[in-house]
Amino acid sequence: MSFLGPLVAAALALAKPAPGAEPPPGFTGRCEPLPREFHEGLVGNGYREGCPVPLGELRLARITHRDFQGKVAEGQLVVHREICEEVVEIFRELFELGFPIEKMRPIHHYAGDDRKSAADNNTTAFHCRRSTGKPAEFSIHSFGLAIDVNPRQNPYLVNERVIPEEGRAFLDRQQARPGMIQRGDGAYRAFIGRGWRWGGDWKKTRDYQHFERQIRRITRKSDRGDLPGGASSPRSSP
Ligand SMILES: [Zn+2]
Repeated sequence: MSFLGPLVAAALALAKPAPGAEPPPGFTGRCEPLPREFHEGLVGNGYREGCPVPLGELRLARITHRDFQGKVAEGQLVVHREICEEVVEIFRELFELGFPIEKMRPIHHYAGDDRKSAADNNTTAFHCRRSTGKPAEFSIHSFGLAIDVNPRQNPYLVNERVIPEEGRAFLDRQQARPGMIQRGDGAYRAFIGRGWRWGGDWKKTRDYQHFERQIRRITRKSDRGDLPGGASSPRSSP
């Protein structure tokens, strides 16, 4: 037996990831059909009959991201199938920039409650609900064509309200801090360079967390008064 034999064997053993180990530190991202448990979870918790896009048109993007401690975690975004691969590429770019994201969980983890999701600083995409600013319309999140990124670092200002309330500490948009989006920065360009629009560029309200991608003409008008509204809407039931 050679002298190196045991050393090589030991090195190989070290290189093998232990079962249950954290994901590798590099970026991984892929699009999958929406798993059955997501269908079941979303019905009544972010999706219901009469929503403009059927669940079959949605995809699950499994994406690794860095959190605010610099650790790599897996996140999940539910988006429209037509933009899923593009979303993976955007988040690959954010990963390579070192842009931190606290968490990415589909809206049914919050029982379809946008306020709870935002207060938990959750980054989320699909959510069939009325528009926060225009209650007679579906939010573009209803089509799986919008993503809210780090709501705490990027709050929504509407009617003199700050959503989530925890975002009040981030109202000074000139003071760059991790996880914040500023016009022209790397995270902004990752979206805008691919044809997305940013809510921070809107005139009447400022929705710093919001990016949207209009892939075609969509009809947003909704007569569905029974749909839940966005984070600023008073809830009719507890
Ligand atoms: Zn949004």
